[in-house]
Amino acid sequence: MAHFTVLRGGRVLDAAGRDAPFRDILIEDGTIRAIGAPGLEAPADATRVDASRHLLHPGLVNGHTHGSGALLRGFRDRMNLELLLIVTPARFANQTLQIKYLNTYLGAIEMALKGCTLAYDLTFGLPVASIEELIVMGQAYRDAGIRAVMAPMLADTSFYAAQPGLLESLPPELRGLVSESGGTDAAEILRLMEEALRTWPHDRDHVKLGVAPTIPTHCSDELMRGSDRLVREYGTVMQSHIGEAKYQVVAAEARYGKSMLAHVDDLGLLGPHFSVAHGIWLDDDDLKRLADKGASISHNPGSNMRLGSGIADSRRMLELGVNLAIGTDGPASADNQNMYEAMRAAAQVSYVRQPDHRKWLTAPEIVRAATEGGARLAGMEHVGVLAPGKRADIVFLSLEHPNWTPINDPANQLVLVEDATAVRHVMVDGRFIVRDGRHVSADLARLAVEAEAARDHMARANADAAAKVAKLEDAVTAFCRGLSSKPYRVERYAAFPCRCEETGGFSAEAV
Ligand SMILES: [Zn+2]
Repeated sequence: MAHFTVLRGGRVLDAAGRDAPFRDILIEDGTIRAIGAPGLEAPADATRVDASRHLLHPGLVNGHTHGSGALLRGFRDRMNLELLLIVTPARFANQTLQIKYLNTYLGAIEMALKGCTLAYDLTFGLPVASIEELIVMGQAYRDAGIRAVMAPMLADTSFYAAQPGLLESLPPELRGLVSESGGTDAAEILRLMEEALRTWPHDRDHVKLGVAPTIPTHCSDELMRGSDRLVREYGTVMQSHIGEAKYQVVAAEARYGKSMLAHVDDLGLLGPHFSVAHGIWLDDDDLKRLADKGASISHNPGSNMRLGSGIADSRRMLELGVNLAIGTDGPASADNQNMYEAMRAAAQVSYVRQPDHRKWLTAPEIVRAATEGGARLAGMEHVGVLAPGKRADIVFLSLEHPNWTPINDPANQLVLVEDATAVRHVMVDGRFIVRDGRHVSADLARLAVEAEAARDHMARANADAAAKVAKLEDAVTAFCRGLSSKPYRVERYAAFPCRCEETGGFSAEAV
């Protein structure tokens, strides 16, 4: 028998209208059936929820994160992308199945508490995680109550092989510390990925598998094409880190004779199921290719600042018709999993990109990206909007919180004021997963004890590998700085040209 719930007395966010009218919401078995003026007709036996003095908005969608990194949040400051990429594999190693679950669960609980109900998680790749472990990490999202796309990060080319000239640049005593091998070969990775897709046990409306050839330069063309075949065959989504750091796009151009994104397009990978993570160093041609194929970008402004990667041109992405989502990125590179903070950062970085305020992102554009845009990027269009026919994933913000006292413009306040401290309840499928500011099932005290123990275990088990990698840091960062000082078609640094000590001069063509 159908079960009805009716939310009465709340104000429903209308971001585009910069309004929040009083509306009742009728939910049938987790799906919104009607939204109407106060007094909306509902079956007599409907469960009544008092939403008065609350603003209701769609659950936020995190367009890009890494569930593998919660135990490493805040582990290091002054870290750029190349440091992250060489340091974290050593630090992430030796995670038991229980620790992988814990990592994912911690991130999912944090997101739930902060109003996010769907995350696109680029998780441990195959075979770093087994299929069994992927299933257990999927269960972490089910247990936390939020939705997820879990896309294993696939790679068959090492960081050192991905940058032409890097290995040769290393002094002989360091060269022996790195392996050129990318590990498992493409055919085996694809075999595992296909088996995982074929046998995935979780309800795909809640937790589905995607595919993430992690960075194109870290993947052979065989792996990229094979990933594309699987995505199309199994009707799922794909995401890849493209144009994140300048050194990568310069290296990619040297390798492919065209941009990283153009290479991916020419391999045939783009489509509505395809999304780019970051997309900072993309030019107009790259963005047009994405727009023409109906693809998306997860704009991750907090991470882009944290890693010093640059300031993406989000206005240009919208102007050229790319579907925009917003993401936090993973806890190892962007620390917290707060989509309100990511929205605020998206606003602020659009303001500092250029003096013409008419080109800055508006609050309604940002809210749309963090909800509807993210749902489209994730291929989960049954969420992201509060409307009849959509699933009832709803955040209740207390209007008695200082963030909302008084209400001037609900869209602006969601983006520029809210910081997740006014989140009072969160519903997924019309059921509370957070009530009165507390997760309904998570035991945070126990999680803290488990997280401390897991952190200690990883630190002990990975000490030797971390020490070995530390010896490479200076040489690798110097090489990447050299690439980053080269001219490129677009400029995404806040201040450039910069004097680069290694190259001993100013970069020739800035802006
Ligand atoms: Zn990432």
